[in-house]
Amino acid sequence: MPGRNFLFVPGPTNVPERILRAMNRAMEDHRSSAFPDLATGLFRDLTHVFKTTAGQPFLFPATGTGGWEAALVNTLSPGDRLLAPRYGQFSHLWIDLAQRHGMRVDIIDVDWGEGAPVDRIEAILSQDRQHEIKGVLIVHNETATGVTSDLGAVRRAIDAAQHPALLYVDGVSSIASIDFRMDEWQVDLAVTGSQKGLMLPAGLGIVCASPKALAAREQAKCPRVFFDFGDMIKANATGYFPYTPSIPMLYGLRESLAIIMEEGLEAIFARHARLAEGVRAAVRAWGLKLCAKAPQWYSNTVSAIMVPEGKNAAEVIDVAFRRYNLALGAGLARVAGKLFRIGHLGDLNELMLLGAIAGAEMAMRDVGIQVTPGAGVAAAAEHYRSTAAPLPERPGAPQAADAVQAPPGRSSPRTAVRA
Ligand SMILES: *Cc1c(COP(=O)(O)O)cnc(C)c1O
Repeated sequence: MPGRNFLFVPGPTNVPERILRAMNRAMEDHRSSAFPDLATGLFRDLTHVFKTTAGQPFLFPATGTGGWEAALVNTLSPGDRLLAPRYGQFSHLWIDLAQRHGMRVDIIDVDWGEGAPVDRIEAILSQDRQHEIKGVLIVHNETATGVTSDLGAVRRAIDAAQHPALLYVDGVSSIASIDFRMDEWQVDLAVTGSQKGLMLPAGLGIVCASPKALAAREQAKCPRVFFDFGDMIKANATGYFPYTPSIPMLYGLRESLAIIMEEGLEAIFARHARLAEGVRAAVRAWGLKLCAKAPQWYSNTVSAIMVPEGKNAAEVIDVAFRRYNLALGAGLARVAGKLFRIGHLGDLNELMLLGAIAGAEMAMRDVGIQVTPGAGVAAAAEHYRSTAAPLPERPGAPQAADAVQAPPGRSSPRTAVRA
């Protein structure tokens, strides 16, 4: 099919050209004297993305699922009790992983479309006077339903119950796209993967551990080899890894972190919020509903859009892909067929999203969902127009007076940020 594929699943996300080029290189010796420069720079800059000074990041050649496992097995023992709300396929799978490691999970089932129930978390922790519960597992952004939970409120709930449980957070589809503050929210284990906000291929499981989490290793009896923090800490201390790292992924991450720091985390969060609001304007204009039940749950990285009763969302996704070369996210598990998802995270801008919204609209009409032609595109476009930043000064344009005053190096916004 001519033209480009429109990749709008909520991961893997679009990999920017700069990252593709940075990854396309010859292999090199990961035990050379030059290698630690690369590795230590990555660890340093990752702490900036996690917003931590005390936390230690770990890079595993794995995926987000590997990150989940690493976080649990390094800090817990079989038989340990955990508390975990379940409100979508990803919270479900993390609970399943913990159970398969022999942990006992107190599950709080929540309607899909809502997020972490902080009052219930506080009540359960308050009743646990013996402090049997060792950890609380929270999926920050439930990618299956497009729901973001309030992690600051979860932290306050744990503190209000005066409970020492570790706070485990899945930030796979939030970190580097939605505000995340490891130190401020005292997150003990933060997990992410490479193929969402970091704009890389899948292939890295990234975990950041607080000092309290690192101390919990002493008591943790889960067997661990590949995911052992101890081996990593020893090798990472001198800028190496205990086994062969993926060289292209590390160079890709180097470029990803450079791109993120050039744009700035706060600007990235604001861009995601604005792009997401345009998608939500389209959904309203279509007369459809999000899976997320109230604005407090709306995710800025993925929108899960319910199709009308009696229609099959899988058909929308199939037609969008085969006819328009547009990849939309599927409904997972209990919401299969009931919704499709538009991922709006990573390397994205307004017109890319308008393409996805147009394609979704066309595919819906093709399968008999009566949305007004152009309604979603128009609503999103007007949102983007009305919220656009003021035009930057035109680089290189003759500006008689300004030309003399403009300080050197201010020719493009990018150099200005770097400087
Ligand atoms: C994608 C995702 C995962 C799973 O990551 P894999 O890289 O597929 O192992 C876990 N949690 C959330 C919230 C995700 O979005």
